[in-house]
Amino acid sequence: MSIDIKEIRKDFPILSTQNRGKPLIYLDNAASSQKPQCVIDALSKYYSFQNSNVHRGIYDLAESAENEYQNARKTIADWFNVTPDEIVFVRGATEALNLVAHGLIQTILQPNDQILLTQMEHHANIVPWQILGKSKNIKIIPIGLNEDGSLDREELSSYLCDENTKILSLCHISNSLGTINPVKEIIEEAHKFNVKVVIDGAQSVPHGKINLKELNCDFFVFSGHKVFGPMGIGVLFGKKDLLDNLPPYQGGGDMIDEVSFDQTTFSPAPQRFEAGTPNVAGAIGLASAIKYLAQFNINDLEQHENNLLQICHDAFEKIPEITIHGKSPEKAAVLSFSAKNVHPHDLASLLDSEGIAIRTGHHCCQPLMRVLGVQATARASFALYNTEEEAEFFVKTIKKSLSILG
Ligand code: PMP
Repeated sequence: MSIDIKEIRKDFPILSTQNRGKPLIYLDNAASSQKPQCVIDALSKYYSFQNSNVHRGIYDLAESAENEYQNARKTIADWFNVTPDEIVFVRGATEALNLVAHGLIQTILQPNDQILLTQMEHHANIVPWQILGKSKNIKIIPIGLNEDGSLDREELSSYLCDENTKILSLCHISNSLGTINPVKEIIEEAHKFNVKVVIDGAQSVPHGKINLKELNCDFFVFSGHKVFGPMGIGVLFGKKDLLDNLPPYQGGGDMIDEVSFDQTTFSPAPQRFEAGTPNVAGAIGLASAIKYLAQFNINDLEQHENNLLQICHDAFEKIPEITIHGKSPEKAAVLSFSAKNVHPHDLASLLDSEGIAIRTGHHCCQPLMRVLGVQATARASFALYNTEEEAEFFVKTIKKSLSILG
């Protein structure tokens, strides 16, 4: 493997800080990743030397802010092998999903049509469809899971061919189970029945290189803060012809062509979906994060993260009190688990006192928790900067904690 984790860690200033007086071991990357110095510098540089509003200015500074903003869009489009006018800047995956749900429900759905989701979706990919689908009496069908946490493809197929099904919206990688859905195959199948596919890429973008042209999904969303970028910025990708046919999501400045008190005409995509002053620094910071990721061989990163997962998974399999949730053969470096007679919060508190940050709770997946028959799980999630020593210390601390709590 040609990546040097020790060197990578030097890029992330927070990793040399302490948690409760102990060296920080950050295993909550599925919630939000840490930021490399280049991203922090890009934000600082923008606000120190480039800050100005975009779109309207004719002075030098405004022109340069505009250029930086559009260059950021181009960097992101290039990374995903799509065109800049297919990239809409939004606040994050949540806003992107609300935008798509709003547009698709208004345009392609008729009363009583169906939207397929899966039982492993984050609330961000459930609630917008529910809220916005009510007005048209849209039916939401959650596709079930197999015992190992993979998607029940037979059930999915049985609904894809139903003529009332118009949209399938599913996560690329589950934030709770780590399951990697075979989205390319699923998209091909859905398209045979003219079903539009929305992919929630919030958990997949940090772990791989995604070629959206090859994937051929209709829409794809992700958040900057999970991919080493800033909070408050994210991306909606939509195929150009589809974006052009979606109605605006919010009205305001910079999304219009012509306004009068009688009526307004709108700019083409992506401007039509970026009403008001955008998060310019965020977009520049996100482009810097993508450039940071681009310097690595992605296969090396995947291998490294999978190795960390394997270390913990193998050790947990030998601890009788522990149940691992999600054992799909295709799985990302996310490990959700329960310990018999121990509340996940108590476990997380003991880990915290040893410097280890993990997440406990329902992970914004309450319907999935019901399927698993638990209220909450503990979840460790790994990123490129985590080390084997950290994984081993995590396992050791879990064992110690269970002997205290059990
Ligand atoms: N989808 C998935 C799979 C997620 O993991 C998350 C964040 N946990 C979201 C959507 C929502 O992302 P955000 O809160 O950044 O909008």
